[in-house]
Amino acid sequence: MCKHCRTTEETTEHILRKCGKTAGLWRHFRNKLKVDDNRINFQTWLIKNMMDQHTGVDFGIICWNLWKQRNEEAMDGKSYSEAGLIQRVNAWINIYSQALINAQKCLAPVDKTKSSLEIAWKPPREG
Ligand SMILES: [Zn+2]
Repeated sequence: MCKHCRTTEETTEHILRKCGKTAGLWRHFRNKLKVDDNRINFQTWLIKNMMDQHTGVDFGIICWNLWKQRNEEAMDGKSYSEAGLIQRVNAWINIYSQALINAQKCLAPVDKTKSSLEIAWKPPREG
């Protein structure tokens, strides 16, 4: 039995996309993510959305948080409101976005004129 809605059998598909208690979360992110049609096969839906070049990571963050929420409810007795879960997903999306920005800064092309001056070898003085 689903720990979240307590109306039907708990399956991975139910937890990640069919549970009525998480429908609002998917509605909230639907426009941003362009999540594909709910009627297609679950495995296809999961792979297609995860592989999306622009929104795959955000989709994965949502699924991971739904799974994490399920485990916290089942094992720790915690519960989250829909708004709380949306807030948590947004926080993880922001953390990922910031990490990506920082990684891009690290990988930015180096100013060769400046770096060659800073790291150039100079022979020691004679003597
Ligand atoms: Zn449910």
